[in-house]
Amino acid sequence: MQPYRSDAFVFFGATGDLAGRKIFPALFAMSRAGRLDMPVVCVARSPLGVDGLRERARDSVSRYGRFDESAFDAFAARLRYVSGDYRDPETYRGLRAALAGVAHPLHFLAIPPSMFVPVIEGLRAAGCDEGARVVVEKPFGRDLASAQALNRTLHQSFDESSIFRIDHYLGKEPVQNLLFFRFANSFLEPIWNREHVAGVEITMAEAFGLQGRGAFYEEVGAIRDVVQNHLLQVLALLAMDPPVDESAEAMRDEKLRLFRTIRTLRPEDVVRGQFEGYRD
Ligand code: NDP
Repeated sequence: MQPYRSDAFVFFGATGDLAGRKIFPALFAMSRAGRLDMPVVCVARSPLGVDGLRERARDSVSRYGRFDESAFDAFAARLRYVSGDYRDPETYRGLRAALAGVAHPLHFLAIPPSMFVPVIEGLRAAGCDEGARVVVEKPFGRDLASAQALNRTLHQSFDESSIFRIDHYLGKEPVQNLLFFRFANSFLEPIWNREHVAGVEITMAEAFGLQGRGAFYEEVGAIRDVVQNHLLQVLALLAMDPPVDESAEAMRDEKLRLFRTIRTLRPEDVVRGQFEGYRD
């Protein structure tokens, strides 16, 4: 990783669902803990103005975070808002102006996947990629070809050490604990293999519906949303050999070794469904 600290958090998708439910509460918690010492420059389409954005942030933290009036003002003061369409070069000129004096912005892309490439290209055309890092939400492409194309676009602007591909699922404690559960339990480790385990079933159970994310599901679909990222990662944690050390590369190598041994799914191996009421 590059040794410098980022000095602005550029938040694409700040008016979206993920922003409201997770990212604003998280940013606020960091700010309250004294761990957010940079401007948060929000970029989205809605013509909210910075006051409207602050209202949204307040609403988000009140509903989904641990709101604290005395700490909120300091957080709200960090927020800036650049409004514009991601396909419009003018948006990036506005962003560049908002980043005056910033040397190492961190661009966080919480946006529809179809917008990743236009935004990365927009950042590049406006020079907002210089000295910057980028965090890309999932899903990373629609298929192999588009994932490779997205990777190429990213690498035109960013070094691999400045690119972060997020999978929130891996941050969940029960998921993180799978490796410790398996490898730190001497009673379990010797029997966790095909001689002693007939089968493993992974269930992802959600207790909520679409909740306004119809457009997202129409574009992405449930499989791309959770299966080839979150659930394949869980599969890897359940079945991989222990990595040689704790580095990200060693972890990646062991997961890859496992994935290479898995037979490719055929359509007849899979049952798909759509829950009643989805179309309504
Ligand atoms: P939303 O559709 O709710 O939000 C999209 C955001 O992008 C909005 O801020 C919207 O701005 C902005 N936007 C979209 N198109 C444009 C455009 N052409 N120009 C300017 N702004 C635009 O999506 P989510 O928040 O649900 O998801 C965002 C990303 O996060 C996706 O990649 C998703 O896979 C990922 N993610 C989402 C999770 C969730 O729980 N929602 C969980 C994990 C990952 P405006 O509203 O102003 O139009």
